[in-house]
Amino acid sequence: MPRVVFLGPPGAGKGTQAKSLAKDLGIPHLSTGDLLREAVREKTSLGEEADVYIRAGRLVPDALVLRILKERLARPDAQPGALFDGYPRNLAQARELTGFAPVDRVISFVIPEPILLERLTQRWNCPKCGTLYNLATRPPKQTGVCDLDGTTLVQRSDDRIDAVRMRLLVYAEQTAPLLEHYRMLGILTPIDATGTPEQVGHRIRTALEHAP
Ligand SMILES: [Zn+2]
Repeated sequence: MPRVVFLGPPGAGKGTQAKSLAKDLGIPHLSTGDLLREAVREKTSLGEEADVYIRAGRLVPDALVLRILKERLARPDAQPGALFDGYPRNLAQARELTGFAPVDRVISFVIPEPILLERLTQRWNCPKCGTLYNLATRPPKQTGVCDLDGTTLVQRSDDRIDAVRMRLLVYAEQTAPLLEHYRMLGILTPIDATGTPEQVGHRIRTALEHAP
């Protein structure tokens, strides 16, 4: 039964698609960020180990993430399959995963950089009251100014165009070898991730139905 990996840059809409597809297939949606938070919250022994790194503002080591993932995959609800979102991130992790939970299909979200940049730089917030705006979905009434108190809106440093470009570059460098790895295994399916969530969801389902 299906073990599916979603690969895609930030802003490609992976999380939204993963939630909906996992529900349809009746398999758990495994995002490593959520798994780590869950382990910490439930105070499992691995979660407490991970918490030390998180509190120190450090990256949780690969080996520990892997143990948390293994533990999660051993639960009954993951026996029919699982949808991995945000894992593996690099070739070493992909090889590890193949070793204990071989993947059936990898969906790669393909989206032109200008569209990603546009999506990722839409977020502005009010430094005074904290209200969040999105130029595409929730624009302020007056350009660049908070509706509630008239304060000039600012962007989080993460959302500024240079930072976003850097995130995309790092992503591309890390995932290029991953894509090649899965292509060689014959399980890579690129999908067009532009358009509405409904359109993208339809493409993913069609691709999975027609996968060999
Ligand atoms: Zn405000």
